[in-house]
Amino acid sequence: MAEPLRIMSLHALEYCERLFYLEEVEEMRVADERVYAGRRLHVEIEKKDDARKGNVLSRPDVVRRKKKATKPNANPEPAWAQRAESQQPVQDPEETEGERVTLSLESEKWGLTGKIDCIRRRDGMLIPYEHKRGRSARTPDNKPEAWASDRLQVIAYAALLAESTGQKVTEGRVRYHADNVMVRVPIDDQALDDLKHSISRARLLQSTIERPPVTENERLCVKCSLAPVCLPEEARLASMLSELPPEAREVRQLKLFPADDDRRTLHVLTHGARIGRKGDRLEVSVLGEAPQLHPSREIGQIVLHGFAQISTQALRMCGQQEIGVHWITTGGRYSGAWVSGTGSVQRRIRQYRAFTDSELCLQLAIRLAEARARGQLSFLLRSSREAERSSPEMQSSIKAIRKLLSPMLRATSIDSLRGYEGGIGAYYFRALPDLIVPEAGEEMKPDGRSRRPPRDRCNALLSFGYALLLKDVMNAIMVVGLDPSLGFFHRPRSQAPPLALDLMELFRVPLVDLPVIASINRKQWDIETDFDIAGQQVWLSDEGRKKLISIYERRKSDYWRHPVLRRSLSYSRIMELEVRLLEKEWMNEGGLFARMRLR
Ligand code: SF4
Repeated sequence: MAEPLRIMSLHALEYCERLFYLEEVEEMRVADERVYAGRRLHVEIEKKDDARKGNVLSRPDVVRRKKKATKPNANPEPAWAQRAESQQPVQDPEETEGERVTLSLESEKWGLTGKIDCIRRRDGMLIPYEHKRGRSARTPDNKPEAWASDRLQVIAYAALLAESTGQKVTEGRVRYHADNVMVRVPIDDQALDDLKHSISRARLLQSTIERPPVTENERLCVKCSLAPVCLPEEARLASMLSELPPEAREVRQLKLFPADDDRRTLHVLTHGARIGRKGDRLEVSVLGEAPQLHPSREIGQIVLHGFAQISTQALRMCGQQEIGVHWITTGGRYSGAWVSGTGSVQRRIRQYRAFTDSELCLQLAIRLAEARARGQLSFLLRSSREAERSSPEMQSSIKAIRKLLSPMLRATSIDSLRGYEGGIGAYYFRALPDLIVPEAGEEMKPDGRSRRPPRDRCNALLSFGYALLLKDVMNAIMVVGLDPSLGFFHRPRSQAPPLALDLMELFRVPLVDLPVIASINRKQWDIETDFDIAGQQVWLSDEGRKKLISIYERRKSDYWRHPVLRRSLSYSRIMELEVRLLEKEWMNEGGLFARMRLR
């Protein structure tokens, strides 16, 4: 038998079908200030109820159909609740007019479960009440009325109350606190038909893997707590850009996706350091030092470098509070992440289906390769304008990259695209030594690109920078709920998940190459103490890692203006945004992914 629907989910359904789908099917919930304020209102109401319970019932807040195991005569249930469990009509808990209780109800007949804010008896009739913080809707002649979603919610409560008590419930009421009005909702045949229709629509949506389109009423999105994950403005923009000729495209300022991340990343580099939990704080302990405490709400990610440890209790708290936990080896390689959930199955099915479409994969890969190649070209061009960094080798690399760009965009297979992309990369890395100013020293110049292991200091910096980037891209993929192990461009060859490798291409130049070369040119590196050299292999020392982490984290919080969305966001937010835009590519809302360009 299907799980009962939460009555609140019908409220969401009436508000916006996509909201219902995101919350109830894909199980995404984001509590924002409005949600918290709503919860506070309900807590206040419950407190008032508790204060009045001296003359009502000890705890009349749960009516379940399943009998609980209780000791005979120990802590006896109120009489009306006992009758409810035996499925007899429930006697009204409030024999006196004006008394109120909160009540949880569940009905097999309706397939619904929910908690009524309060019930009153008026003129002998039971009336369910719902409290709302906001204002009521208005009729054309300015009379207060209930919003459709609130009306449906109170109808559902009335239906369950009538079933539980065996009494007729002919009216529900919604109290709007902002304009201090009470709206009466008739519970008649029309109301019950509307409820049935809404339940069957909810069941239908639960059975599909397609996410419903964004609502046409834009004003609903402004108040919706899921706007940052739904990205309604971006979906509308994608549809507008695809339908209109360029001259008619007018892009508005889009603001529903938060511009910055207010939670920071906690890097733990000391070998043997231990992260534990102390209340709602994370405690980092290092032998011989005073422990450091970090409020968990301020942390978005924990990165354990080398042999740092984390306790089960701390891991559990990270799972509950959606704090990403990542491990990077002593050699500077990204080794994995811990995720508390697996993401919704509908989302995964859509992703798998999309990535079995070879034409879609090719088109996405071309866009990705173009974004990276244009970023590399812009970086070289920008540097070549500075006299001391321009060289014949750099000019020839720029020319060769330009020449390869057009055929790359016309690639007809992933393999040929890889060939063009590899060629462009080789020319780019050939020019990289010329980007280093002479004062930085020959030791800091790269000799081509060497990965495993890095063979010079510049490559050691790039490799560790890419490991940090991989960690952040993985975190963004996990937050969005896609499967990192299936990508559209990279093959599953190494330990690194292909989708993360795909998305990294967008950020290698702006988040790693650019700040690393700039830091070398600023002579920020000590060629002795910041590096450990073992034969042909060059690694960063602990000191060097700390320095690069701080350069990288600073860069991540830089703002950058997205050329299509035309608004500035921090790079860390852009990573998540690009993952969400990628997902839209297979949900009929595509066209905006990988449009970012370095200028
Ligand atoms: S942001 Fe808008 S379209 Fe998206 S779920 Fe909320 S109300 Fe619906």
